[in-house]
Amino acid sequence: MEKGIAKAYELVSSSNEIVVLTGAGISAESGIPTYRGQEGLWRNYDPHELATPEAFFKNPKLVWEWYDSRRAIMKNAKPNPGHFAITALEKEKRDFTLITQNVDGLHFAAGTRNVIEIHGSLWEIKCTECEKIEKNYQVPIPELPPKCDACGGVMRPNTVWFGEIIPMERIDRCLFAIEQCDLLLIVGTSGVVEPTASMGLIAKKSEKPVVEINIEITPGTGLYDASVMGKSGEILPLLVESETSRNRM
Ligand code: NAD
Ligand code: ZN
Repeated sequence: MEKGIAKAYELVSSSNEIVVLTGAGISAESGIPTYRGQEGLWRNYDPHELATPEAFFKNPKLVWEWYDSRRAIMKNAKPNPGHFAITALEKEKRDFTLITQNVDGLHFAAGTRNVIEIHGSLWEIKCTECEKIEKNYQVPIPELPPKCDACGGVMRPNTVWFGEIIPMERIDRCLFAIEQCDLLLIVGTSGVVEPTASMGLIAKKSEKPVVEINIEITPGTGLYDASVMGKSGEILPLLVESETSRNRM
């Protein structure tokens, strides 16, 4: 662990063009449950059964009730020191891109600017008929499912569900950023959901160093240049606040 953090620190401080890839783990310390584990369940439903087009077309109200409950948790959630450390990194580096799988908006709330929300946002809704997209911050949404004010169609969360394809333009932006970077920092993702699961490997194939922070071992752990086991809200500030981390190592 100490060796992991020392190496991670060395790589983060010497990089100029950094890409950070985050998953649900970075928001865990803000009180937002990940999908994995018992705490991710809602009324005994597995999120993997709710975040699908099939579930929505079968029962849009049920799926919306689940999203409404997640939006209620997220509305009250605040960014944690991990989110803020990433914002500090963006300010320090010459080039910076954040790719997040999260739909909670907390990176924006922490002030990070160059963010690719690869799975969309929970604060956008989209018409299933005319595809109109609008921002929506109502919690709770008064009538479920919400209807489109342009055509009356049923609105859905503008997120990418299991079994759906991520818009190609978004993936291209991620791959381009990885191609240009000199370090990929992967934080709080289990590394089992594609296409982000492969991004560490893609970076390694282009001979870019990869650093990982997670509370558990992931499929990529043995392949990366440094794997730091610990909470992102505790580890990230150590990697970014140079003087503090130098003293602690
Ligand atoms: P995931 O696959 O990204 O797994 C979460 C990972 O975070 C696990 O590997 C876990 O060990 C790690 N982790 C947990 N707490 C951590 C901490 N404090 N510090 C560092 N690592 C920590 O996410 P998932 O929960 O399996 O979800 C799959 C999909 O659902 C992803 O697209 C995810 O973004 C989305 N999702 C988003 C949110 C959100 O927007 N906050 C919440 C749940 C799920
Ligand atoms: Zn419409």
